Amino acid sequence: MADVVLVLNAGSSSLKFSLFDVAGGRPALQLHGQVEGLDTAPRFLARDAQGAEVGAKVWAEGTGLGHDGAITHLVEFLREHRVDGRLVAVGHRVVHGGLAFAAAVRVTPEVTAALARLSPLAPLHQPHNLAPIEILAKLQPGLPQVACFDTAFHRAQPEVAQAFALPPSITGRGVRRYGFHGLSYEYIADVLQQVDAKAAAGRTVVAHLGNGSSMCALVAGRSVASTMGFTAVDGLPMGTRCGNLDPGVVLYLIDELGMDVRAIERLLYTQSGLLGVSGLSSDMRVLLASSDERARFAIELYTYRLGRELGSLAAAAGGLDALVFTAGIGENAPAIRERVCRDAAWLGVVLDPAANRSGGPRISAPESRVAVWVLPTDEELMIARHTLGLIGGGT
Ligand code: ADP
Repeated sequence: MADVVLVLNAGSSSLKFSLFDVAGGRPALQLHGQVEGLDTAPRFLARDAQGAEVGAKVWAEGTGLGHDGAITHLVEFLREHRVDGRLVAVGHRVVHGGLAFAAAVRVTPEVTAALARLSPLAPLHQPHNLAPIEILAKLQPGLPQVACFDTAFHRAQPEVAQAFALPPSITGRGVRRYGFHGLSYEYIADVLQQVDAKAAAGRTVVAHLGNGSSMCALVAGRSVASTMGFTAVDGLPMGTRCGNLDPGVVLYLIDELGMDVRAIERLLYTQSGLLGVSGLSSDMRVLLASSDERARFAIELYTYRLGRELGSLAAAAGGLDALVFTAGIGENAPAIRERVCRDAAWLGVVLDPAANRSGGPRISAPESRVAVWVLPTDEELMIARHTLGLIGGGT
């Protein structure tokens, strides 16, 4: 029986999991799934690596399962599948590692306490990410746990790329650009190295376009700048987040519209972006299929802002050798990739329309100065690798 590593990604209302067989030091996906609706109408679904359903459960509305109940169910489910004895470690996705954690770390009570102190920097995510760590530490105290951070990969950025032009009395409190989606960028940097070593050694911009969207400039595989900043609301417009916003707008919302902090938070995080602009949906598939003028404008604004950020990141990297699209929209929406590449012609991007329609992976024309790739991301696999590496089993 081979050893397995469990990867957990806990949000406010869901707990996603993936189980990797780590025989031979190379994690291979065995099972994945989630418990959704933790505090409303919880439902559990697990699938094997081929996508076949291997477990499902629905709880009554108002059960109030919470993270506690979800973890307990998952542990029982794994026991039923007789994997508990082979579980060698759990890897967690943790949004914020602050300044102190520039790499994944083995969890200790001191680490957990340090991560909890970062909660004010990511109040919507950090406490939920930490909940399963604390629950498992009580349930199975001997089980090694590893925290992997969305911010860590960006700590390599030059100081100027991380700084705000604010006085030290503010920046000294940790107010700086952290950047997020780091596990995705780290994974893509690794894949690019395998598929296009020349481009990977140069200047690359990776566009992670999902519900949360951001872009990152890499030089020789290291992050030098990213569109997300102090929080994950900065940068590109997203499914429901506004992205880049003149801070004067926030002052106007307070002064003139009398909005309080929570109302502004709701507006910027859940009522803006593709959903807010279109008034229809945060889902790019719905917008692309719609003939509504508002859907068309939301897409236009999304791709326009992508083009501007691409220029800004190419400037930060000192040029552009490769452009990579990844995540839900990046991997599956040729129409969006086509617009972005058309707007990036000035950077030397020439698209191969047929390759773009068929999904690549290389979608640039032979004469393109910039290599353009579509590469599926895999943050869970990255977490499994870090976890295995830290418990001494990985390659
Ligand atoms: P998350 O950030 O939640 O991980 P994903 O990476 O799964 O999100 O991306 C979700 C986004 O991808 C949604 O906007 C969805 O509409 C979009 N998407 C998924 N499949 C397609 C597709 N075939 N065409 C266009 N957009 C797609």
